[in-house]
Amino acid sequence: MNKLSDLSTGVQPTWCPGCGNYLVLAAIKKAIGELNLEPKDVVATYDIGCAANMVNNLNVCGFATLHGRSIPVAVGVKMANPKLTVIAQGGEGGIVTEGGNHLIHAAQRNDDITVILNNNYVFALTTGQTSAATPKGLKTRSTPEGNPFEPLSAIDLAAVAGASFLARTQSSDLAQTTEILKSAIRHKGFSLVEIIQPCVIWLKDYPEENKSEKYQEKPFKDIKDFFNKKNYLGILYEKI
Ligand code: SF4
Repeated sequence: MNKLSDLSTGVQPTWCPGCGNYLVLAAIKKAIGELNLEPKDVVATYDIGCAANMVNNLNVCGFATLHGRSIPVAVGVKMANPKLTVIAQGGEGGIVTEGGNHLIHAAQRNDDITVILNNNYVFALTTGQTSAATPKGLKTRSTPEGNPFEPLSAIDLAAVAGASFLARTQSSDLAQTTEILKSAIRHKGFSLVEIIQPCVIWLKDYPEENKSEKYQEKPFKDIKDFFNKKNYLGILYEKI
């Protein structure tokens, strides 16, 4: 097994205290280490967003791409050198909103890459605007009267497109996230791992200031209920 220190660049992350990205980074390092993959044989392509700052902290071959474009770059890397382990990272702002088309087509083609989707429910880097995955009714900076739309589910989209591996975990569960990432990386074909990690900054203020408004409480109850439904977590589908 690789030493975890080998997978660190020595650069300290700058995420907010309590951000789920710290545990996600730890889980990715553990998964790569326990799979005994050499850093030089792993390429990670990153979207734009808070989690994408991992490009500075994870000591593999990193490629910082543009909004919503980590998947097509990852597909290109894999086509150029199929021996590489290729991971595409992105938040729900990039993977589901700006680059949703790339998610659908990579799943349809069963491209042999692993997509790590950091779902914090809002565009966090740009201070908390609604994304396509934001719960209906949630007040955000861009929807002060509440998001009027039902959220898009990356898992549902990828499933309909024909993805061969689908999983969901939560950042607070380091052990489960690590094991799921290992299974996804080992999987031959397209794999999607959605990591639920509500932003502790931009999801914090809005429910508080609207506590008395029932319709604002509901999306947060939905998220809480989601966490309690363990059957929605884990490996949801794998085509052998
Ligand atoms: S704004 Fe939210 S997602 Fe971004 S680093 Fe802070 S807690 Fe994490």
